[in-house]
Amino acid sequence: VTFDSGDQLTGDKDPETTTSSKVSAAERTSIDDVRKSLPVFKFREQFLEAVKENPVLIVVGETGSGKTTQLPQYLHEAGYSEGGKKMIGCTQPRRVAATSVATRVAQEMDSKLGQEVGYTIRFEDKSSDKTIIKYLTDGMLLREFLNDPELSHYGALMIDEAHERTLSTEVLLSLLKDIVRARPDLKLIIASATINATKFSEFFDKAPILNIPGRRFPVNIHYTKNPEANYIQAAITTIFQIHLTQPLPGDILVFLTGQEEIETMEGSLNEAVAKLGSSIQPLHICSIYANLPQELQSKIFEPTPPNSRKVVLATNIAETSITIDGIAYVIDPGYVKQNVYNPLTGMESLVVVPCSRASADQRAGRAGRIGPGKCFRLYTKWSFYNELELNPVPEILRVNLISVILLLLSLGINDLINFDFMDPPSNDTIIKALELLYALGALNSKGQLTKLGRKMNEFPLDPMFSKCILTSSKYGCSEEILTIIAMLGESGTLFYRPKDKREQADKKRETFNHELGDHFSLLKVWQDWEATDYSNLWCEDNFIQYKTLKRAKNVREQLARLSKRVGVESEIDKTSKEVPPLMIQKSIVSGFFPNIVRLSRMGDSYRKLKQNYACFIHPSSSLYPVKPPPRMILYHELVLTSKEFMRNVMVVDEKLVKEFGSHYYSIKDLESATNKVKK
Ligand code: ADP
Ligand code: MG
Repeated sequence: VTFDSGDQLTGDKDPETTTSSKVSAAERTSIDDVRKSLPVFKFREQFLEAVKENPVLIVVGETGSGKTTQLPQYLHEAGYSEGGKKMIGCTQPRRVAATSVATRVAQEMDSKLGQEVGYTIRFEDKSSDKTIIKYLTDGMLLREFLNDPELSHYGALMIDEAHERTLSTEVLLSLLKDIVRARPDLKLIIASATINATKFSEFFDKAPILNIPGRRFPVNIHYTKNPEANYIQAAITTIFQIHLTQPLPGDILVFLTGQEEIETMEGSLNEAVAKLGSSIQPLHICSIYANLPQELQSKIFEPTPPNSRKVVLATNIAETSITIDGIAYVIDPGYVKQNVYNPLTGMESLVVVPCSRASADQRAGRAGRIGPGKCFRLYTKWSFYNELELNPVPEILRVNLISVILLLLSLGINDLINFDFMDPPSNDTIIKALELLYALGALNSKGQLTKLGRKMNEFPLDPMFSKCILTSSKYGCSEEILTIIAMLGESGTLFYRPKDKREQADKKRETFNHELGDHFSLLKVWQDWEATDYSNLWCEDNFIQYKTLKRAKNVREQLARLSKRVGVESEIDKTSKEVPPLMIQKSIVSGFFPNIVRLSRMGDSYRKLKQNYACFIHPSSSLYPVKPPPRMILYHELVLTSKEFMRNVMVVDEKLVKEFGSHYYSIKDLESATNKVKK
């Protein structure tokens, strides 16, 4: 890959005068010293003073300065936890960040994780009565409002990574704005990595901003001379170019879009490293992404052994949420994976899009923490200025709002159009969400929450899923539906294909294929595994990830507990007879009727019943390619890559669409569904 000679992203430190103060992690002995060496430490008193004087404080600081790990401890030390009577909460937009930071802070406080320091993420609660500092995802804090609308358990709350502008964080900020007025004893801290702090300050009636200058060395930015067709290949080549020409120590951080991409690249890299053998200095490859099991997360923090180099493959989680020490080189392909919702079509899909310029600069900054660094952007300088947006679009302006709106309605907030959002979503998006909630039976025709709607809210799931669970009670198939839902959430990482045994792995996988599609194939995997008493060996034999199934098992148990709480009968007198597949299909269609597509007349694609929009079965599906293709299917999610792909699909019958979708589809939509399809 050919790069240009480079631009400078200036740091706030001059490399000549500051390199001498560089301390390597290995040189520091005690955790206390590490804590004191972080940039926030010098601001400890100033921070606490500002908290004392103000109900709301905005803290802005370079990533890695110690905001997330230190500020909650300072608040605790200063007494805001009232001797253990109240908690200090700190929200994170990402699960991995919450668990990773909690692990670290537990170490720093010399406590066992889950005791004084804990975390809560969806389907996993590692906190207890003893917990004083709790890290939790923004979505989980939002759910805590349902049981405790004043958040009375908290003495102080830090809404972290506010610059990410996730949907949950934004709704939290709106709700908290009210609560701090009602509860003068509650301290609110909003922490953000640089950019946009004034917007938060204005939203909170001109709350003061505390700036924490970080350690930042200059970073040289290089662009490719020409556009790169394949950024994965370009990234691999660049890793070796750095490794062979740049001095040690100095680790490499690569920004990728998701787990699959990371795993593919990890495989290719390990292969290349094995081939090169001892002709190069050792390269240690490790990765970090949302679903990475916790026991593997700590690997990225292990110090790199002398005379070798670490390569971290990360999603944009490493952009600001997690700081890895020792990085001197950043490789940035310039992409990010996002959920994008179109209120006109009511369709939401996962799309890989160019990241913003602000993100690209954050990424580059990660190379300048230990000394002057280098960032290699795998795109041209022209692209940077002409094809990347200046800032990322806040999530509230680009995703489907049904979960959040259902939650707000449960909290008694009915006037959504006038709700105090930082950036109000379009009325179209709100109305579409209300329409869908009505179609699901969560709202009545007056727009009031129904009993069913309240029950849906008990599940930390998209209301379409909750609806399936609640319906399944009627059809005696709750067990199966819970399994399917838990499995759908993990389906991306269920099967694996070792390079040397691909055919064998694919053959095994085919044995699970069910004629009704992926929902049933996943159910079969689960049932066969369950029959072996959850055997690890069985997983190995079938090229299935044991860890993935274990995760699904955990999710399933939690859903079962919640189902019981809302009165879903999980075992309707199951005298060993198998549940008819039709009952399972009915339950799923009752929640997912908006996601039904029919085969086009040409038979080459599928179209939504309401819109003439082409979608295709994803190659990973058990229905790909099935001949003849089913006339009507329901999809679980859309993924837009080269085409609009449907991932996880199930065959449905027209009768079912009429039974469960007649209130949602017009007669015309349904008629065209029955008549227009040619055999
Ligand atoms: P900020 O929130 O300002 O970005 P953090 O508090 O996350 O900063 O990070 C402060 C320091 O703690 C960094 O040097 C980071 O590498 C370190 N750190 C954070 N989490 C862990 C962990 N799980 N293991 C080891 N070090 C960690
Ligand atoms: Mg942080």
